[in-house]
Amino acid sequence: MSFKPISEIGEFGLIERLSAIAAPTLKNTPGLLEGIGDDCAVYRTGGPSLQVATTDLLVEQVHFDLLTTPMHHLGSKSIAVNVSDVCAMNALPEYALVSIAVPGNLSVEMVEQLYAGMAHAAARYGVAIAGGDTSSSPSGLTISVTMTGQTSEERLTLRSGAQPGEMICVSGRLGGSAAGLKLLQRERTIMLELLRNNEPYDKDVMAELREYSEAIRCHLLPEARIDMVRFFNETGVVPTSMIDISDGLTSDLRHICRRSRVGAHIEEGRIPVLTEARAVADEFQDDALTWALSGGEDYQLLFTLPKAVYEKVSANREISVIGEILPEEEGLLLTDIFGMTIDLEQSAGGFDHFGR
Ligand SMILES: [Mg+2]
Repeated sequence: MSFKPISEIGEFGLIERLSAIAAPTLKNTPGLLEGIGDDCAVYRTGGPSLQVATTDLLVEQVHFDLLTTPMHHLGSKSIAVNVSDVCAMNALPEYALVSIAVPGNLSVEMVEQLYAGMAHAAARYGVAIAGGDTSSSPSGLTISVTMTGQTSEERLTLRSGAQPGEMICVSGRLGGSAAGLKLLQRERTIMLELLRNNEPYDKDVMAELREYSEAIRCHLLPEARIDMVRFFNETGVVPTSMIDISDGLTSDLRHICRRSRVGAHIEEGRIPVLTEARAVADEFQDDALTWALSGGEDYQLLFTLPKAVYEKVSANREISVIGEILPEEEGLLLTDIFGMTIDLEQSAGGFDHFGR
């Protein structure tokens, strides 16, 4: 038996292999409408509604750094990212199970802060924390949240329903989370340097962090777009496909394209980049568009609508049209502000946990 490092196949390669191993368990499950491959699993429990379920893992030093992440925020985020996956199915969340593995150096107060953040977010989204598990951890804090939600046959929105000619829409603004992360990473370096030299933390640095509070908020306290699901319900609009932007616009649009067997064309000039992200990018001599395309963790909703249906929601300023669905053979295209078109399949994009 030979051993292959996981980095060789990447996160998506690993998911593919594990899905194949799990596939036999999906036989004789008529109640399961959608298994691995969407934002949530979807199943019937007998009543008229459909249930959805998702789970998400937050690992210290992979997803967060305790030096720059307040416990309360971390708790809130761990709930919000799951609500976001439920919303991506056009469903509303119901119950959460929360498991944590806690290293010995955390205090009771810190863990209570974490749970207070979870409870705060749960109340906001109408989620009941109904159980969970706790364990000690030999290294680092790990948080696992499993969440269920409810929708109906008519409202259920998968990644797989996009059709050529439909409009590609996104909620809110992108790139904020990546900008916030850049700022926090810089702060972390400064903090560690000051700690090493036994010097006090500079007040001017704190002032600058406050100046970019929106980007930092996007990263530490992302909000799930449950308001969009409610808006769709109120207007009677059902997107043909939907995903939440957790890996980055390019990567998540690619998921829709693969599952729907379509191509897509998006235009740089129409991508709603957070104004503050542009300011941060200027300071770091980086590119806010790249952050919007591949930074990830913005937790906005990416969805498709037929042109006639879009007319019904066009007045909603939270919705931006960024392009159009194409036939599969045309690929995944991006036209920049100078009119140059590139094929995104040929370029890297999206965060891959095991990649290099
Ligand atoms: Mg998702």
